[in-house]
Amino acid sequence: MTEKTLLLIKPEGVIRGLIGKVIARLERKGLNISAIKLLKMSKSQSEALYSIHKTKEFFPKLIDHMTSSPIIAMVIEGPKVVSIIRAMIGATDPQDAAPGTIRAEFALNKTQNIVHASDSSKNATREIYIFFNQEEIISYEKPTEIEFLIGKIKEK
Ligand code: ADP
Repeated sequence: MTEKTLLLIKPEGVIRGLIGKVIARLERKGLNISAIKLLKMSKSQSEALYSIHKTKEFFPKLIDHMTSSPIIAMVIEGPKVVSIIRAMIGATDPQDAAPGTIRAEFALNKTQNIVHASDSSKNATREIYIFFNQEEIISYEKPTEIEFLIGKIKEK
């Protein structure tokens, strides 16, 4: 059974030219991008996304940063995608992120840790609709490598 999750490339990821590197990892893993857009986050979108942190001292800085320049928002789909993407991005603090994860490889501090990903399926549903409407999310199936090759042989 497939799940959906929200993945954002934060402002510093866009500015530093890391969009392609992040997307390449998703494709290499075999996950589907079901929706994708570049947008400048509004204050209300940012506050809704991080509502759980609104009493934290870092909240104003986080909101300022997230609304400072464009981000990439994506809906990613695949089996167990919520936990798979969380494993691929690594711990919040890049210093604690496991080697090979996106945050370990590309980030130095917690505010500018390159990506956001939903931490549960329930939160994913809530977060996805902060950025997308139903019509913008397109689920599709990719053939497996072997099915793709069989199709090529049949074409000949
Ligand atoms: P995650 O993004 O790994 O799900 P959280 O939901 O705990 O982490 O926090 C949301 C975002 O808030 C983090 O990605 C990070 O950019 C920022 N953040 C969290 N904790 C801190 C902190 N102590 N200082 C500064 N920024 C923080």
